[in-house]
Amino acid sequence: MLLNSQSTRSLLRAVDFEYAPQRFTVYTARDLDRIGQLERLPAELRYEMKVVSSVLPFRVNEYVLRELIDWERAPEDPMFQLTFPQRGMLSDAHFKRMAIAIDSGLEKKELQVVANEIRAELNPHPAGQLENNLPRDESGEPINGLQHKYKETVLFFPSQGQTCHSYCTFCFRWAQFIGDKSLRIATTEAEKLYSYLRHHPEVTDLLVTGGDPMVMKSKQLKAYLEPLLHPEFSHIQTIRIGTKALTFWPHRFIFDDDADELIELLHHLVLAGKHVAIMAHYNHWRELDTDVARAAIRRVRATGAEIRSQGPLLAHINDNSGDWAKLWNEQVKLGVNPYYMFVERDTGARRYFEVPLYRAWQIYRDAMKQVSGLGRTARGPSMSAGPGKVEIQGVTEINGEKVFVLRFIQARDHDLVQRPFFAQYDENVTWYDQLRPVQGQALPFLEAAR
Ligand code: SF4
Repeated sequence: MLLNSQSTRSLLRAVDFEYAPQRFTVYTARDLDRIGQLERLPAELRYEMKVVSSVLPFRVNEYVLRELIDWERAPEDPMFQLTFPQRGMLSDAHFKRMAIAIDSGLEKKELQVVANEIRAELNPHPAGQLENNLPRDESGEPINGLQHKYKETVLFFPSQGQTCHSYCTFCFRWAQFIGDKSLRIATTEAEKLYSYLRHHPEVTDLLVTGGDPMVMKSKQLKAYLEPLLHPEFSHIQTIRIGTKALTFWPHRFIFDDDADELIELLHHLVLAGKHVAIMAHYNHWRELDTDVARAAIRRVRATGAEIRSQGPLLAHINDNSGDWAKLWNEQVKLGVNPYYMFVERDTGARRYFEVPLYRAWQIYRDAMKQVSGLGRTARGPSMSAGPGKVEIQGVTEINGEKVFVLRFIQARDHDLVQRPFFAQYDENVTWYDQLRPVQGQALPFLEAAR
């Protein structure tokens, strides 16, 4: 144990940084009227936000309001779009249904019923994740709070980590945040996780995810992760932690009461031989553009943990190559590794954010042309569909027919990994299940795509 060693003490001093610590203050749907900055926006827009946030989750904190959103540019500002609900996120029919329910003065409980009916029509758990990825224990009982889709990687959803410092409007895990336990993936049963890992030596990577595990106290995170240093878990080479705290609350790594404990924990896991990967969620270079955000990255990197960056391509937020190139260039400068550009998933507010696949590929390609080799590590654009992660590799012609070239980066069926395949070129296609086969060839596992 090296927590009191000279090296750890120097690590904790590694980032000298002057910044007035802020208190974490958060606003949810019922606090919309208390957000002073919104007063500059038209009343109609504020009403629309109220309606949409009755269906889709909303949560924003003071740091995002003060330092990330450019209020001169709202509502178009990408950081505003990232966090605040917009009318187009619901279909006209859904919007009207919710608006009528609110305007007719229904009780909270009745409003909840209307909201839940709409939510159920928004594909709350895409890619069959509740049914298909749920692992079972030795007696065949499903283990809630774990997902095991790909052979090497198990996802763990600790119940204390099933919220975030702010919510993204496009979140594909939005169903985690609407208070419906039947839609929620979570566990506090760490023993079941350990037992499952003991019985699965093929698993090399554990991804702790949410929500955002960085909302947890360092003590809780430590209680989950330190047992993995025991020799019986030597097959777990990599501990990944999925988080957007580096964007939404970088203070977590610097000023929070237990920030030092968190930094020590990461360092300790690294020194004990684990590869610690912070799977950071970024959508726009503006998220990197504050002193505290950059200092948090420096401090995490000083622990020896790697930071890998991933996020979806989204209309209204980042659907242009210039913003992606700037994001990747800045990340390389700060020592963050670009890892994935995703396609927006077929759930929740997808209708507002989706970008046709051919455009996604063009944006990816144009962005790649603007970065050096170290920035070209981002894979994509990739769809996390039922059968696996499908990457759009390009557009070409076969016997005079224009086609998409695709491959499985990762697949439930290992045999599909890295096998290229083709689909008819179509400028309207936005998701895997809309792809059509070429010249009679079947698309792999199309029926399982949703
Ligand atoms: S941080 Fe991740 S889990 Fe949380 S709202 Fe954003 S996308 Fe969803």
